[in-house]
Amino acid sequence: MNRLSKNPRVIILLGKSGSGKGTQADFVREKFGLDYIGSGDLLRARAKKKDFTGKKIARILAVGGLIPTPAIFKLWLDRVEELKTKDNFKGLIMDGNPRKILEAYLIDEAFEFYGWDKNVKIILIDISNKEAIWRLTKRRICQKCKEIISFVGHFRKIKRCPKCGGRLVQRSDDTIGSVKNRLKWFRTDVQLIVNYYRKAGRLVKVNGEQSIEDVFKDILKNIK
Ligand SMILES: [Zn+2]
Repeated sequence: MNRLSKNPRVIILLGKSGSGKGTQADFVREKFGLDYIGSGDLLRARAKKKDFTGKKIARILAVGGLIPTPAIFKLWLDRVEELKTKDNFKGLIMDGNPRKILEAYLIDEAFEFYGWDKNVKIILIDISNKEAIWRLTKRRICQKCKEIISFVGHFRKIKRCPKCGGRLVQRSDDTIGSVKNRLKWFRTDVQLIVNYYRKAGRLVKVNGEQSIEDVFKDILKNIK
């Protein structure tokens, strides 16, 4: 039995769309050799199975709806069960879970059951609504390779895809209306989660309006 697997690190990243939490999740995963769990990946994989649940999930995803908690939690728990049996399992980085307060309770209970509850770090990458709207409506996607180009730092000056030279266009779901919807969801659902962790003294807030490198430095300071 691997000793590390008894004491894995768990990092939960919270933040609005546009906060850069996906990028930071990649950095953290690489630095600590963690496994990534994102609800988007879990759901897209499940939607590929063409049974009732798979098809229903695909339909909800297609309109940008929210999958009910029992369905997502089942996928989440199955994935954790699978990962924790890996020989070199070092822990998890989560981005996009929990999505609702109910999921925060369930995840807490699950980690307590595994005996990992002392190892959980919750980090909010904080940006204002104004900044989120600015970044999301300004960011571009490469028409050719689908790389998403964030509107931060030196990327603000980029005209062509840095990977393949393809043309950069706006993503169809990065319209102001859809961005405002995502922010509304943050305000109604995710804010409850943020408050729940904050009141329990478990939340670390990092300023997300710095450079990508500085956000990462602040995250590292809090998970060392
Ligand atoms: Zn490209």
